[in-house]
Amino acid sequence: MTIYLQNPTFIDRQSCKVIKKNIKVTQGYEGKIEFIEKMPEQNQLAAEDKIINCADKIVTKSFGCGHHHIYSALARGMGAPKKIPENFKEILKYVWWTLDKCLDLDMIKASALATAIFCAKNGVTFVIDHHASPFAVKDSLFTIAEAFDKVGVSHLLCYELSDRDGEKSKQEALQEHKNYFNSGKQGNVGLHASFTVGDDLLKQAVLLAEKFNTGIHIHVAEDKTDQEDCLKDYGIRVVERLHKFGALNLHRTLLSHCIHLDEKEKKLIKNSGVWVAQNIESNQNNNVGLADYGAITDNVMLGTDGMHSDMLRSAKVAFFAGQSIEQPGMDTIYNRFRNIHNYMEKSGFKGDGANNLVILDYNSPTEVTSDNFLGHFIFGIEASHVQSVISNGKLIVEDKRVTTVNEAEILSYAREQGLKLWNKMNCGG
Ligand SMILES: [Zn+2]
Repeated sequence: MTIYLQNPTFIDRQSCKVIKKNIKVTQGYEGKIEFIEKMPEQNQLAAEDKIINCADKIVTKSFGCGHHHIYSALARGMGAPKKIPENFKEILKYVWWTLDKCLDLDMIKASALATAIFCAKNGVTFVIDHHASPFAVKDSLFTIAEAFDKVGVSHLLCYELSDRDGEKSKQEALQEHKNYFNSGKQGNVGLHASFTVGDDLLKQAVLLAEKFNTGIHIHVAEDKTDQEDCLKDYGIRVVERLHKFGALNLHRTLLSHCIHLDEKEKKLIKNSGVWVAQNIESNQNNNVGLADYGAITDNVMLGTDGMHSDMLRSAKVAFFAGQSIEQPGMDTIYNRFRNIHNYMEKSGFKGDGANNLVILDYNSPTEVTSDNFLGHFIFGIEASHVQSVISNGKLIVEDKRVTTVNEAEILSYAREQGLKLWNKMNCGG
């Protein structure tokens, strides 16, 4: 199947240059886009080919999420935990670790399908997810992958390896990574965070990542207690510990948060060239502090930390909330928003080629030009403008409706699984 986009205003994602030419989009991981002067005649089209009229529409590269948690999808509207958390560790203990221990494969499937739908409708065609379900580890990554594939959203998954849930759960999580990679699927090796990962597990995780030619994906210094525990238990700071075990030698490594770093750690990250994911709304929600990412590295990408699937929203918050701490320019935030594509390209992962596009019905009161696109990006363009989405050359959202799955059925299934989860957690809605 080939999709032809007629008369679009195309914005090149790197240069922000406006190109007004028809576009031919071919399917598959190797698929690409081609600018064409003349549209094909009706009799030159194959039966399954499609022409989309893009007059007055903006077409650009679709979006990616650098740090997501599908496991939080069924938490929306959930009742209060048995104790109102007073600090970050209590948020984990009473909310997220209570929730993830109750997840079963059906709930994981519902969470992943719902997340993939929200991503697709927000123009997000690539997701890097960090998953935990300590009592439903086996097949969890395969379940998430299948759900994302069904909707048509590409992915880079991992499981949060940790010593927090005992030996059995840990062994299952190591095995799940091995099974997943051996089946030919791409992913990272996940670790929860330094303070729940002992030296032996950290060593095993790095060896696994080396063996399967990937990187580590871990929460780093999200709260200052991560550093305090590391200094107390190992006499060094979190990034130094990761460096000591070789995690920073892997150029696909992704460190999420990085709020509480000292100068030595910042230098280690910058010199190693590993990647950092910024999740500012989550940091505000957990009141763990905000970071000056510009002082760490240029390799910063944006994530949502499972709070939602709207990357345009994440970019706006990074810009506005960032003003109080690092005064980022619009170009800085745009680069962070787009850095996931550079991470994918440099890492050699698939699913983020040029044939991933979003069609925006953007009713601007002012001209959109190469020079002012960033102003539209920060102050104008929102997820509500996403009209259609092309993922690997396939139309997965058409006129705001997901074409690949039945959204109403899936959300009804998710609500059912959500109630089941809340009952199990003993925390009604
Ligand atoms: Zn996270």
